[in-house]
Amino acid sequence: MVCGHGERPILRTSTKKDNPGRRFWGCVYYEVQDTCDFFRWADPETGGALQDSKIARCRKKITTLKTRLKDVE
Ligand SMILES: [Zn+2]
Repeated sequence: MVCGHGERPILRTSTKKDNPGRRFWGCVYYEVQDTCDFFRWADPETGGALQDSKIARCRKKITTLKTRLKDVE
């Protein structure tokens, strides 16, 4: 994930009234110089869902390995 400058965006916290404390990814040059208007919400929900699918995959792998282990034993 890179912004219009080809730089990695940094995690910021919104100070806007309508979304206070909400985290988002913004251009590194935000409020410093010309920004490229890169903007993406960094919702914990999205990360959580991703994490959940990872965990589900790991659990499946463990189950498969346990079954194989039984076969070996
Ligand atoms: Zn940028």
